[in-house]
Amino acid sequence: MARADGLRKLAEVVQGRVVFPSDLDYDRERLIWNARFETRPLGVVKVASSEDVRRVIGFARQHDVRVVARNGGHSFGGYSTGDGVIVVDVSRLTDVEVSEDRSRVHLGAGATVLPTYQALWPHKLAITAGTCPTVGITGLTAGGGLGVLGRLYGLTCDSLTHVEIVDADGELLHAGEDRNPDLFWALRGGGGGNFGVVVSQTFRLVPVDMPFTHSTIAFPWQRAARVVTAWQEWAHGVPGELWSALMLETQAPEAGPSALIEAVYAGDPARVGGFVDELAAAVGTAPSEVKSSTSEFVTVPTDFYCKGLRPEECHTEDLFPGGKLPRSAYYAKSDIATGPWPSAGIEALVAAVEERQRDPLLTPTDFDPHTDAGKILIEIADGAVGSVATDATAFPHRDALFVLQIASRWRKTGSQEVAAANMSWAGELYSEVEPYRSGSAYLGYIDPELEDWEQAYYGANLARLRQIKAQYDPDNFFRFARSIPPA
Ligand SMILES: Cc1cc2nc3c(=O)[nH]c(=O)nc-3n(C[C@H](O)[C@H](O)[C@H](O)COP(=O)(O)OP(=O)(O)OC[C@H]3O[C@@H](n4cnc5c(N)ncnc54)[C@H](O)[C@@H]3O)c2cc1C
Repeated sequence: MARADGLRKLAEVVQGRVVFPSDLDYDRERLIWNARFETRPLGVVKVASSEDVRRVIGFARQHDVRVVARNGGHSFGGYSTGDGVIVVDVSRLTDVEVSEDRSRVHLGAGATVLPTYQALWPHKLAITAGTCPTVGITGLTAGGGLGVLGRLYGLTCDSLTHVEIVDADGELLHAGEDRNPDLFWALRGGGGGNFGVVVSQTFRLVPVDMPFTHSTIAFPWQRAARVVTAWQEWAHGVPGELWSALMLETQAPEAGPSALIEAVYAGDPARVGGFVDELAAAVGTAPSEVKSSTSEFVTVPTDFYCKGLRPEECHTEDLFPGGKLPRSAYYAKSDIATGPWPSAGIEALVAAVEERQRDPLLTPTDFDPHTDAGKILIEIADGAVGSVATDATAFPHRDALFVLQIASRWRKTGSQEVAAANMSWAGELYSEVEPYRSGSAYLGYIDPELEDWEQAYYGANLARLRQIKAQYDPDNFFRFARSIPPA
């Protein structure tokens, strides 16, 4: 009762809004992107300022309630929500301020990918971020931040220059090269939710005034293993302006699985045909289909995710009124490769996709690619990502070649049996390919089932991160199942 009263009092003093379980929109406000996590927070505070965050922390300390921050709500592991927690939702902190010399942008912590690109587009500038329109920039930066500009300009966290963060004592801190440099180091790859609630971030801007050509290159499934082998060499050998990812994905039962490469080239579109020819020569087979379209940088996320949707529909359903991007349950394992995989490992990946394709529980007759597909997604992560020293930021995987994801997706209405089968498919394949994995994993794809996760995510930077956690949050106020333990 004291907690409920305290929360009512908090609601009276915050500039933003507290969403209570009794509110009509609570069932929307409590949700996150991954439908695996159906939790019931004590309340969701839609903060309007850093002062609001300070008040929430004061309330939480007084009433011994766990606080979790939420930006885009895309945590693979559901760590931006929880039963009985207070969710600090920063989505109202959406200010965008470009510096006078147009070298930097100050973003409120509620920034998400597409609105940020759109706000910066009049300047023909961008931050280096991902392709999914709805991912939160704060969560993305905290894990590193892979994206189509990564080979050219580095990770999202590499262009971060300043952070405002409310710490575990409710103090507003500034972190940058010259102020709280240890904290600033940790906030670049040390993971969301560990050190405080970020209220704003400043990034260096990069030019994106060149044409962007997005190509989807499909190969016959029979050549899938060869496609992976050839892609590993090709994707690494092409210039930094060319980003690509490879997907082995289940499709409708009658269609059979697909082997696709998505490529985005920043520069003269006339060069793209040559790159595709090089890839085809390396595979030794002509693509079954090549679709290419050239446009502006700002259209890349919508081209990937929102084709045929109106702008107001390019949001996740259930979370955003009118949103039409399907929301489903998701489980993924990841591995960061530092060199090409041998053919035995690749054949295991191909065989697992074929097995999933044949399984009627995982690939039902009324298959929907948005909610039933399982896939192997391999994203190139070399180039400028590797030009930063391992200990220069908390993100340690600077020798990466690519990030591999084994991902299961199933309907939010799926039975326990379907959920278990999907979890097993990804988990068993991950175990099977153990001899070929590096053991490092991408924190942005945080995995509640991963063993030895501290080493997998942080490697050589773990000890320093634990010391910084002890310095800024000694009593582990900001905690969740995969948070950094204080030293
Ligand atoms: C569909 C999809 C596409 C993706 N695409 C990419 C991609 O292209 N590149 C890539 O690198 N990653 C990608 N990811 C992974 C993504 O980067 C991570 O899931 C990231 O954590 C999402 O951030 P968020 O703000 O949306 O999530 P949230 O769930 O809101 O937050 C993630 C974590 O950060 C914490 N956090 C959130 N806000 C704050 C804050 N203000 N202060 C402190 N901590 C905070 C949360 O507590 C949580 O622990 C994708 C994920 C999905 C689901």
